[in-house]
Amino acid sequence: MTAQLIDGTALSRQIRAEVAGRAAALAARGVTPGLAVILVGDDPASTVYVRNKVKACEEAGMHSVLERYDASLGEAQLLSRVAALNDDPAVHGILVQMPLPRHIDPHKVIEAIDTRKDVDGFSVTSAGELMAGLPGLRPATPYGCMKLIESTGVPLRGKHAVVIGRSNTVGKPMALLLLQAHATVTVCHSATPDLAFHTRQADIVVAAVGRRGTLSAGMVKPGAIVIDVGINRNEAGKLCGDVDFDSVREVAGWITPVPGGVGPMTIAMLLVNTIEAAERSSR
Ligand code: NAP
Repeated sequence: MTAQLIDGTALSRQIRAEVAGRAAALAARGVTPGLAVILVGDDPASTVYVRNKVKACEEAGMHSVLERYDASLGEAQLLSRVAALNDDPAVHGILVQMPLPRHIDPHKVIEAIDTRKDVDGFSVTSAGELMAGLPGLRPATPYGCMKLIESTGVPLRGKHAVVIGRSNTVGKPMALLLLQAHATVTVCHSATPDLAFHTRQADIVVAAVGRRGTLSAGMVKPGAIVIDVGINRNEAGKLCGDVDFDSVREVAGWITPVPGGVGPMTIAMLLVNTIEAAERSSR
């Protein structure tokens, strides 16, 4: 069996077009949805990420502000910028690009963002809303993974999902979203003794580790849905995920590629969160 490819680029395009429609409807009522992105320092990967986010925003007809600061920016100065953006009615979403320089406490910064504008969904309040099953802004990457899984048309109720990784930004919210969709969820991590034992039983595997070769063909149940969140480089410097794509695609039923899977969906779901925040604030 060769797995069907889940095309994150195509799905993200469709979602971004829907966001553009919603942005136009808001604009017709005099509200231009706005996202503010703060980048501290000049990390090359972060610079590319923020550029892509701002560009995607503009393409969807939303207003975006990119604030760039030197790596020497003080924590208090950053917090005062966040406070100013909280008070700015033209800004509906605030994103502070991580990682921050070591002298700045990321938790303090995340908690300083008005919950209604927390489009990354990383604050304790947003995490609590997800945990409690209340409406709120969901972290973009796992939210995008859910859309990719849903696009297969396979009902999740009663399915066994295995999430590899338990970070606050990907693994944990992913597990909660799958649970909310009535899957039976197992979360694996670096202290899990026999990863393959768990993944072999999974109807859905989400790999969010950051280590290539984490999931190989012998670890996958035939027909499973495999979502690869990882971003790594192989020996040749080529982008690859956590999943051994060439072998796993011969066993799985559906699989996301890297690049072109989860990555574009993360940006699309950031736009969805921003438009949702703007719609809520204008109700
Ligand atoms: P992270 O914070 O480093 O978490 C990695 C997780 O993997 C941890 O929970 C860790 O377990 C677990 N792990 C490490 N080695 C393992 C092993 N041998 N077996 C099982 N689990 C293991 O990373 P993250 O932020 O969640 O990101 C994960 C990957 O996704 C990275 O490659 C990142 O670049 C990528 N990512 C991609 C996107 C996108 O848009 N495509 C977005 C976000 C992240 P412990 O908790 O026990 O240490």
